[in-house]
Amino acid sequence: MDSLIENAVIKIKNSRHTTALTGAGISVESGIPPFRGAGSLWEKYDPMKYAEISYFLKHPEEVWKVFLSDMKDTLVKAKPNKGHLGLAELEKRGFLANIITQNIDGLHQKAGNTDVIEFHGSFARFYCLECQNRKKVEEIDLTKLPPRCSCGGIFRPDCVFFGEMIPPESLSRANTEASQCDVILVVGTSAVVQPAASIPVTAKTGGACVIEINPSPTPLTNTVADITLTGNAGDVMTKILEKL
Ligand code: NAD
Ligand code: ZN
Repeated sequence: MDSLIENAVIKIKNSRHTTALTGAGISVESGIPPFRGAGSLWEKYDPMKYAEISYFLKHPEEVWKVFLSDMKDTLVKAKPNKGHLGLAELEKRGFLANIITQNIDGLHQKAGNTDVIEFHGSFARFYCLECQNRKKVEEIDLTKLPPRCSCGGIFRPDCVFFGEMIPPESLSRANTEASQCDVILVVGTSAVVQPAASIPVTAKTGGACVIEINPSPTPLTNTVADITLTGNAGDVMTKILEKL
């Protein structure tokens, strides 16, 4: 493991432009369950129902009661962990240009990263379905569900539900970053949700070194990934920073 960390550190030091792709795994140590595996959201709710846009638009009260109010409680309490803070430190020390994240929890910004491409939008922001009035997550009042705007419209999170498009500007920036970077750190993603899963492949095709950080193997391991650092994001980021 130590020699793999050293190899990764050399690649990061020699890179002119490094980006990161993060997924739900980086936020597990902040108490936010991932989508798949033990203790996941998938086990608790049927995401194809509750995280699907047409179901939400037809049954906003049920989706707010069962799913979104629980998500809001979890996300407002969550704090960045050593994985997020490590990526923020990498940016501060000039080793990381930006982050492409599939997460909607806003923890990279809370950790201090300044250029975060939110591939699936953000649960930190809400808007009214009728008048587009915007609110921060902290301003959403859950005493009566679904939460409503002063115009009577229902609030929804500014994140991408199943059945919705990736924001075109995020998709295009992510593709540009992937094709131009020298190194991509792929942290805590199962690399199965498209189109995010193709970002490491785009990077690799463009000649980048793909460094994966994950406690479990993924479809990238031993295929697209040049270096796989097996472990939790917090531990591995701490080791990388010690050696940089
Ligand atoms: P995923 O749930 O499919 O996979 C999580 C991955 O993280 C797995 O490969 C797992 O082995 C790994 N992992 C678990 N613990 C880890 C740790 N401590 N450190 C590093 N890695 C760890 O996640 P995904 O690939 O991001 O896809 C799920 C989709 O669900 C994403 O599109 C995302 O938008 C959404 N989601 C977001 C959040 C969030 O914002 N925090 C939470 C759940 C789901
Ligand atoms: Zn409104």
